[in-house]
Parts: sequence; structure tokens; C-alpha cells
Amino acid sequence: MPREGGNMTERRAALLTRHGKHAAIAPALAGIGWDLTLMDSFDTDSLGTFTGEVARACSHRDAALTKAKLACELSGLRYGIGSEGSFGADPWLGSCGWATELLLCWDAERQYAVEAWMRGPETNFRHWTLHDLAALPDIMLQAGFPTHGLIVGRPGEAAFHKALTDEAALRAHLARHLAGGPLHLECDMRAHRNPTRMAMIARAAAALAERLASVCPGCGASGFGEIAPLAGAPCQDCGAPTRQACVRRWQCPCCQATREQPLRAAASPQYCDYCNP
Ligand SMILES: [Zn+2]
Ligand SMILES: [Zn+2]
Repeated sequence: MPREGGNMTERRAALLTRHGKHAAIAPALAGIGWDLTLMDSFDTDSLGTFTGEVARACSHRDAALTKAKLACELSGLRYGIGSEGSFGADPWLGSCGWATELLLCWDAERQYAVEAWMRGPETNFRHWTLHDLAALPDIMLQAGFPTHGLIVGRPGEAAFHKALTDEAALRAHLARHLAGGPLHLECDMRAHRNPTRMAMIARAAAALAERLASVCPGCGASGFGEIAPLAGAPCQDCGAPTRQACVRRWQCPCCQATREQPLRAAASPQYCDYCNP
């Protein structure tokens, strides 16, 4: 496979998608002088889908990495972009939807990935059991249908349909299949049928671009960025180490070199295991 040389002024990355993600990612990369090549010849659904037609065997990060490496292989470009979303309940109360978007850039020449994560409650991720059409208007409102997609049924069920794009078609399909019993309905999380998700992918792209533009002072690789801080800030009252940050850290994802900045601030006793157990 031909690879680009180390020319810093020529950065081209490939993205595999059939779900319109190129439009959400390309502008942020263009802002730092990167060109994003769209490759729609490969069906990424074969790597796993949200609707469970193909089980996702590997983790979130592995899935994004597989797509990014594949993009390099199929395009022959040095850089490949991988995107992967996951959805569930919020990690605190479990009472609202929660989205996690990962966008990463694989450098096939130096064999490392730069990652950008975006997390938040901005998602319509939800599912319902529909007993009769009376409940439909409320569901459409919560799902954002028809701007956002709704999937009827589960893979393998007679009612399964994920390409209903207007209310008349949805109603007709539901009416036909409700005769056989209650139906499962869920929000379509595929990017091209979910503008809320697309907006979060665009935010992840902005974070990735920012990281790619930051160069490691040690090895010159792209992606130098802040990682989790070290805990241990002293308690204001008793001086014992707390779980509050005492050192900010930055790390290079390529050579692993770190830079640290000690924080002088003491922590409030409310974070102290001795003063406030
Ligand atoms: Zn480095
Ligand atoms: Zn204390």
C-alpha cells in the first residue's frame, strides 16, 4: 500500500461511513488543514450495528480503532478516522439518556491513535413497547420523528423496519403489525437518521482537531493533550491528601512523554476522608 511521506503540510485522512458522518467531521479537520476522504465502499454495519443484527463483540474503543485501521488499509492513506457511539442511561441516576461518542485518528506510519471523547445527556436514546396507536403522538414527540428515525420491531421479527421516514408510512406499518400484539419501538441511533447524534459527532470532531493540532514537545507527533489529573491535593484543614487534583498532566499518545503542572490550591475539607468521612 502506498503511504504518504512525513510532509507536515499534507495531511489526508480517510473515513469509512455510509451514514453521512463525513459532513459532521470534515469541517473541523479542514480548520486545521486536514483533508478528509470519504470512503463509502465498505459497509461498516458488518462490524456491528446498534439494532443487534450483528453483535458487537469488541469494546467501544476497539470498534473505532478497527474502522480507523481499515480506512487506512482501503485508502492507502497514512491516517484513518474511526467513529463509534454508545448509548445508555446516565451514570449517576440512570434516569435520562446518555451518549458517548469516540472519534479517533490512527496514524499507520507511527502506529498510534489520537482519541477524542464526548459525553453528555444530548441524546434521544429511548425505547418503548407500543400497545396501540393512541400512544404514538407522544412517542413521535419524544423521539423527534420524522427528523429523527424510529425503528419498529427487532431484527428477525416480522414487523422489523428501519426505513420509515414519514408519519403516514409509520402509522400504516404499525397498524398492520399491532394486530399480532404489542410492538417494540426504538430511536434510530444511526448518525444519518439522528441529527442530535450528528451534532455530538461534530463536537467530538472539534475536540479531535484541537488535539491533532497540538504537537508533542518530545517527539513531534500530533495529539499531545491533557489526561486525567493526579489526585492528592492537601486538605485545607488537616493537610491530609484528598481525591481532589494536585497535578495537571499532559501526555503524548505516541511516545507517552508527560508534562506536569503542580496545582497549589488546597482542597475544601468536604473532600477530606478525615474531616468529612
Ligand atoms: Zn511524543
Ligand atoms: Zn481534612
